[in-house]
Amino acid sequence: MESYQQQLSQFIERVKHNTEQYLGYPVSKDFDYQELAELIQYPLNNLGDPFIDSTWKVDSRQFEREVIEFFAKLLHAPENNWWGYVTNGGTEGNLYGLYLAREIFPQGICYFSQDTHYSVSKNLHLLNMRHIMIRSQANGEIDYEDLRETLRIHRDLPAIIFANSGTTMTEAKDDIGKIKSILNEFAISQHYIHSDAALCGAINPFLSPKPSFDFADGADSVSISGHKFIGSPIPCGILVARKDRVDRIARSIAYIGCLDTTITGSRNGFTPVVLWYAIKKYGAEGLRRRAQHCLDVAEYTLQALQSIGVEAWRNPNAITVVLPEVPEAIKIKYQLATANGITHILCMPNVETSHIDQFVADLKEARV
Ligand SMILES: *Cc1c(COP(=O)(O)O)cnc(C)c1O
Repeated sequence: MESYQQQLSQFIERVKHNTEQYLGYPVSKDFDYQELAELIQYPLNNLGDPFIDSTWKVDSRQFEREVIEFFAKLLHAPENNWWGYVTNGGTEGNLYGLYLAREIFPQGICYFSQDTHYSVSKNLHLLNMRHIMIRSQANGEIDYEDLRETLRIHRDLPAIIFANSGTTMTEAKDDIGKIKSILNEFAISQHYIHSDAALCGAINPFLSPKPSFDFADGADSVSISGHKFIGSPIPCGILVARKDRVDRIARSIAYIGCLDTTITGSRNGFTPVVLWYAIKKYGAEGLRRRAQHCLDVAEYTLQALQSIGVEAWRNPNAITVVLPEVPEAIKIKYQLATANGITHILCMPNVETSHIDQFVADLKEARV
């Protein structure tokens, strides 16, 4: 029998090994949170609303508030009219956005594109929301004509738009400005727009032209994953919503001496400190440099693949490079996700051109 120490050290070796080569998932690994290690000795828990002090004091709420404030500004949330919390990931933020929308417009229909993240259908089912899937264009962006035709038929009902800013497979971005003009065309004033910016929420603010995806463009809520572009050892995310939208659901709970505005009761108290540490270290300028590095490596990847005859492409300013399905051995070695005959490379902040060179050489060899 192996001792538990042996089992643990073998496991750690395996994790180390499996972290080395991946290129197919949007997960940064270039982080160092050792300075926070001491915190794992404490039962940190941010239960309840991050903006209201609770009877429970072993929390990191003040850090969580700073994180939300940073992202509210980055996403142009209306002054003095924003709220948010650190979630368990992009999925929870999306669920929250849909929850707010349903509470405000119980009769509404949710519209989302074919390329929307797989978890959204499940969330709509959980919330028992009426929904209609809209066709996608070839690049993964919502088909505005199909959306227009569908909204025309249902113009008597409130519209809940679930927009993507960076679809999972091709990093396509639905244009909220265009969507708003369709809503205006049919005078659908009762609408709610949620922006799923899991990957791109912390990249888009630094792009030019800036994609139409945030509060300035008409979003009511935005969800971002923390462990994707920013990087975290534990999955987490950021949800920011217009405060007037959240006030509708706030309910005071005597037991915690706080408002029950979040989905779960107990909440992670460690990840808000992780995100706080990241924004302190990077600042907006550091995030901008990170984004630029990704864009440069993505362009390099595209050129390198095309130079060996691979029909690769990428959406404008995307850090995702799309290519036809690759041989099984390559898929396994680089942990590449494949769907509908395409696969993709995610040029995350940790990816360097040397890593791409190795991948391209392997692919070239596997194809002959
Ligand atoms: C990753 C992703 C999600 C889910 O986010 P998690 O942080 O994994 O929960 C949702 N939408 C899109 C577009 C994503 O890429």
